[in-house]
Amino acid sequence: ALTVENLTEWINSFAAKIAEQKDYLSELDTPIGDGDHGNNMARGVKAVQESLTSKKPAELTDAFKQIAMALISKVGGASGPLYGTAFLEMAKKSKDTSDLTELFAAAAAGIKKRGGAQVGDKTMVDVWDPLAEKIKAGNLAQADVDAAVNATKDLVAKKGRASYLGERSVGHLDPGAVSSGYLFAALIETEG
Ligand code: ADP
Ligand code: MG
Ligand code: MG
Repeated sequence: ALTVENLTEWINSFAAKIAEQKDYLSELDTPIGDGDHGNNMARGVKAVQESLTSKKPAELTDAFKQIAMALISKVGGASGPLYGTAFLEMAKKSKDTSDLTELFAAAAAGIKKRGGAQVGDKTMVDVWDPLAEKIKAGNLAQADVDAAVNATKDLVAKKGRASYLGERSVGHLDPGAVSSGYLFAALIETEG
């Protein structure tokens, strides 16, 4: 189960991966988007860390809310509101439970509802949805993260900027799927 302490550890690990891969994420967003995903996310996770250190959350719900607000106000683009929704849904759910299965199911459902994308549309949903299921099954592993992220390469984008390219989006990883993969990788490291 999640606590303020391990949630903070998880998010700090995610932030470090984003900062490290900022240029790579923006490069991924260049052929099928507008080349800003790494910059957007790096700005967002920096704001998240500033928020969590300047005001240490007392409860899990407060922590999720602070993370969501920082992401919504600083990431921007299409991904900001979607990441923000994921953490807002976890904030709501955390009032009743700190169980990862329920928190991630709520987050994945929130992203799908907010963005209208389904599995197979070549978005972050292709990572959040199957990996929330893996968490439910109790066997999320790094190989699953890699598989979910890599599977976006052969898909035709149906949502977001990449969808403007239609078939020409094939052969490129989805940048939001890659950044979401870091979130799950960070979770595995934190649990382990
Ligand atoms: P923008 O496209 O506005 O520049 P970003 O580059 O930060 O925003 O984020 C792009 C990512 O957002 C995509 O790679 C994709 O994963 C995700 N995305 C875009 N639209 C949607 C949507 N409708 N549903 C889910 N994810 C989406
Ligand atoms: Mg972009
Ligand atoms: Mg943009």
